[in-house]
Amino acid sequence: MAYLATPTATGEMIKKYGFHFQKKYGQNFLIDANILGKIIDAAEITKEDCVIEIGPGIGTMTQYLAESAKEVVAVEIDKNLIPILRETLSEYKNVTVVNEDILNVDIGRLAKEKNEDKPIKVVANLPYYITTPIIMGLLEGQVPFRSITVMVQKEVADRMQAHPGTKDYGALSLAVQYYVKPEVMMHVPPGCFMPKPGVGSSVIRLTRFEEPVIKVESEKKLFSIIRAAFNQRRKTLANALSNSSLLIDDKGNPMRVIRQEVCDALDKIGVNSSIRGEALTLEQFIALCNLL
Ligand code: SAM
Repeated sequence: MAYLATPTATGEMIKKYGFHFQKKYGQNFLIDANILGKIIDAAEITKEDCVIEIGPGIGTMTQYLAESAKEVVAVEIDKNLIPILRETLSEYKNVTVVNEDILNVDIGRLAKEKNEDKPIKVVANLPYYITTPIIMGLLEGQVPFRSITVMVQKEVADRMQAHPGTKDYGALSLAVQYYVKPEVMMHVPPGCFMPKPGVGSSVIRLTRFEEPVIKVESEKKLFSIIRAAFNQRRKTLANALSNSSLLIDDKGNPMRVIRQEVCDALDKIGVNSSIRGEALTLEQFIALCNLL
């Protein structure tokens, strides 16, 4: 089976099966072999690795993954792509295609079944409309992954690695940086895809910390504070948190704080009580959470 990562090979395969791109599924297939090679290199795939691919499309990246990894599980929502994948991946005995919505798949269980609970790697050219739920599900769920190397919209990659005080800094930056080290590996122009997306893309690698950088007493509580802080970004942190209905405690029950409690806690960690959430570091959010 020839590689698919050229406009001609992809075009022919699509024509052969009368396939129509579905915008609602974020279908922009890679047609650049050079970029694909770089993604595999960035993911540092070896013959020891079990890889989960989200959205294989016609199998363009899956072929590369199958050749570098021990085992590949590719989860694709679009049933019209399944017969195509059967043909394009027929030579690879180490690939399993699962026709499911990734948001309904228990990836933790899949990893357990396929890799005896050892850490897996996630590699994908993601469907952009569900980037955040996919990434948050992997980070917050019980998924034993070593790294996630994914193509995302450039703006989303920028947000994942943003620092306090910048316009891109927000709840996603903090959640990502709590669990993993984010590294933008390359930018990819629209011309590398069929059809061309309306936005620029970046490949980002998220590498799991062995241990969280700093331990928080309750992750649930921490992320509810972060969500509340950025839900009303222009407000001071004390105003955004006071009486917010978004706050939950370590057991997941609603939690209310009054403005003065937040000001006192900020005072204790040496931060001015008129600060906005967008200026607080992850370490400061954790210190605040442990005090509230
Ligand atoms: N990996 C292929 C490539 O690089 O050419 C295709 C990438 S394309 C950007 C995204 C793929 O994700 C499409 O094949 C699309 O059908 C699939 N997809 C979209 N939503 C999905 C979902 N909820 N679960 C699983 N796959 C999904």
